[in-house]
Amino acid sequence: MAKYTGPVCKLCRREGEKLFLKGTRCYTPKCAFERRDTPPGMHGRARRMKQSEYGLQLREKQKLKRMYGVLEKQFRLFFDRANRKKGLTGENLLVLLETRLDNVVFKAGFARSLAMARQTVNHSLITVNGKKVDIASFIVSEGDVISCRDNDKTKKNVKDCLGETGDALVTPDWLQVNKEDVKATVLRIPQRSDITSAVDESLIVELYSK
Ligand code: SF4
Repeated sequence: MAKYTGPVCKLCRREGEKLFLKGTRCYTPKCAFERRDTPPGMHGRARRMKQSEYGLQLREKQKLKRMYGVLEKQFRLFFDRANRKKGLTGENLLVLLETRLDNVVFKAGFARSLAMARQTVNHSLITVNGKKVDIASFIVSEGDVISCRDNDKTKKNVKDCLGETGDALVTPDWLQVNKEDVKATVLRIPQRSDITSAVDESLIVELYSK
């Protein structure tokens, strides 16, 4: 699967807010955005021009894509899937992205960053209900139990991550994490109110509805 391999802190500066792409580092004074919050590039410090309606919609879409590490093609597939579901498309989109397996692995604290969570899934180290799942975009369901492969090295690595991320990451209400057994249970499918990201999803729906 194609992925963005450039410097991620630049993405936060481009979007004008912290996207929390580097795990625990994002919560420390080492965060690049804390030190320099201007857009990247030669003219970063120049005053931002007033954005058009299209510009605002585009920025919101880019921000959401970057938060979940999804590129355009897959993002569009997620949007179409959200559109086919009952309810508000924007909310469906956020819930689908939030319940991706790589995001759940990261939110459970099994990895230090979303990128690391994706790599852990891609390397077949994660199980869902006891079965190996190596697809990062796999959507978890209510009652699913996410764990890691029964292998001493993998368990130790995940436990180390749980120890490091424990203080920085707040486990969402819809997820229950058992650190000792290295297990995360999806208690319920998250609602829009559970997703704290500052995203105006209606702008993305407007953009794709043109
Ligand atoms: Fe963004 Fe995290 Fe880098 Fe800070 S450390 S700029 S929040 S990715």
